[in-house]
Amino acid sequence: MGLNGKDLIVDGWFHERGVLWPGQAMSLKVTKVLDHFQSDFQDILVFESESHGTVLVLDGVIQVSERDEFSYQEMIAHIPLFAHPNPKKVLVIGGGDGGVLREVARHVGVEEIVECEIDEGVIIASKKYLPTLAKGYDDPRVTVQIMDGAKFLADNQDSFDVIITDSSDPVGPASVLFETPFYNSMYKSLREGGIVCTQGECMWLHLDLIKPLMDSIRQTYSSVEYAYTTLPTYPSGQIGFILATKGRTTCKVPERKPDETIQQELKYYTPQLHQAAFVLPAFCQRAIYGT
Ligand code: SAM
Repeated sequence: MGLNGKDLIVDGWFHERGVLWPGQAMSLKVTKVLDHFQSDFQDILVFESESHGTVLVLDGVIQVSERDEFSYQEMIAHIPLFAHPNPKKVLVIGGGDGGVLREVARHVGVEEIVECEIDEGVIIASKKYLPTLAKGYDDPRVTVQIMDGAKFLADNQDSFDVIITDSSDPVGPASVLFETPFYNSMYKSLREGGIVCTQGECMWLHLDLIKPLMDSIRQTYSSVEYAYTTLPTYPSGQIGFILATKGRTTCKVPERKPDETIQQELKYYTPQLHQAAFVLPAFCQRAIYGT
């Protein structure tokens, strides 16, 4: 069982202390605890913060803050979707808050969106406290499966154009989503030309996890690349994405662009930033690609 979120609130401040970022903590001033309960899978805390709006915390780890969530949701969704010329069928694994669904739903050519989330408690909390994210569930193309994403893929050899894994960190129920067998299952479930985009942790903290995983899946996928985005409330202010393809050489260049109306609605993603997201600092480039 992970950390109890309420225990991390001391003197009115939530301190995000976790085993994956030893010796450092992100702190937010709490104005009100909105909810705190234990689901079948994890500890769920929702609080109102002074600086970042409503915040969702799972097992003591910040998942979403209203102020900066768009950076993560837009980049994890639009990099693979705009790198694909014609995505029709999309799978989201995890993503219980609904924010990734909201972004996928902006693509009018997408015909079917399946979400597989292990914990209905996250969906319920998000619909109640984070309606600007949970509105992703309102799209009629969305269907939801409540189950383990790894099991879903093992049991459903369906075919998708894009698979997005919006998972929590590799501690607790999400550990399985950072293992090679899960990537092998995703590969089998991709159509030719398909793209996988997964939450790829942080280059400042987790290169020892990122590199072996990318090396291992290179044996299966046609291309494996790393991109990143910035956002204040994730550990060290950054989070990365692993982009892996079946029968495609790269995801670095968008095949399509948002039309004027959609671009006006987006707060982070632009076609220029799509390409820039793959340009890595030297230490990270060297560690991941050896060059
Ligand atoms: N954006 C956040 C981040 O990177 O920190 C993560 C978002 S949070 C919505 C991740 C979701 O993955 C949670 O709702 C959690 O319940 C779900 N999850 C964890 N393990 C899972 C699994 N094995 N199968 C499906 N969903 C899972």
